[in-house]
Amino acid sequence: MSKLVLASNNAKKAAELSSLLAPLGLEVISQAEFQVPEAGEPYATFVENAIAKARHASQHTGLPALADDSGLCVLALGGAPGVHSARFAGEPKSDLRNNELLLSRLAGEQDRRAYFYCMAVLMRHPEDPRPLVADGEWHGEILEAPRGENGFGYDPLFYLPDLEQTAAELDAALKNTLSHRGAAMRHMLDRLRVHPLE
Ligand code: IMP
Repeated sequence: MSKLVLASNNAKKAAELSSLLAPLGLEVISQAEFQVPEAGEPYATFVENAIAKARHASQHTGLPALADDSGLCVLALGGAPGVHSARFAGEPKSDLRNNELLLSRLAGEQDRRAYFYCMAVLMRHPEDPRPLVADGEWHGEILEAPRGENGFGYDPLFYLPDLEQTAAELDAALKNTLSHRGAAMRHMLDRLRVHPLE
C-alpha cells in the first residue's frame, strides 16, 4: 500500500481521509506520527499556504504529502477573514471570539453572503513541480446570532437558506457531503484516479 502523509496533526482528519483514500490503495498517516513540527501559514492565499504545508511535511518525512488550507470568506468584508479565519480575533485562537468579531464587523450590513473555501494540495516529493490541486466551496449567509451545537469554527453563524439550517445544525455526515472540504477531497480523489501516485 502506498503511504501518504497528511500535513495536519489532527488525528480525526487523518482517520476521515484514510477511509476516503483506502479504495485507491493509499495509507494515510498523520504527520504527528513523524513528529513533524507544525508549518507556518504566512501567505495571503489558501493555495500558497497549502503548498507550503504539503512541501514541509514531504521534506520532513520523505513521503508524498497531502495538505489542506481552509477558511471563511465574507463578500462584504472583501473576503475576510479568509486565510486568517482561525485567528481572526488574535491569539489564543478562539471560535467564540472569532464569531463575536465577525458579528461586530457585519453590524448593520445587509449583504450577508459568505462562503467556506478549502484548497487541497498533494505533493509527491518536496520539489514536485506539478502538485495535484483540488478545491471546494460552500456558499451561505452569515446570521445575526449563532444557532446550533454541532461542528466547529464559524458553523453556528453559517446559514444555508435552502436547508433553513446553519452548518452547526447539520449532522456530521450531511455536512461532509455538502461542505467545501468534502468537495475538495472528492475532487482530489478524481485527480488521483487520473494521476496515481505510482
Ligand atoms: P483549517 O485551515 O482547515 O485548519 O481551518 C482554518 C479555520 O477556518 C478554522 O479554524 C475555522 O475557523 C475556519 N473553518 C474552516 N472550515 C470550517 C468549517 O467547516 N466550519 C467552520 N469553520 C471552518
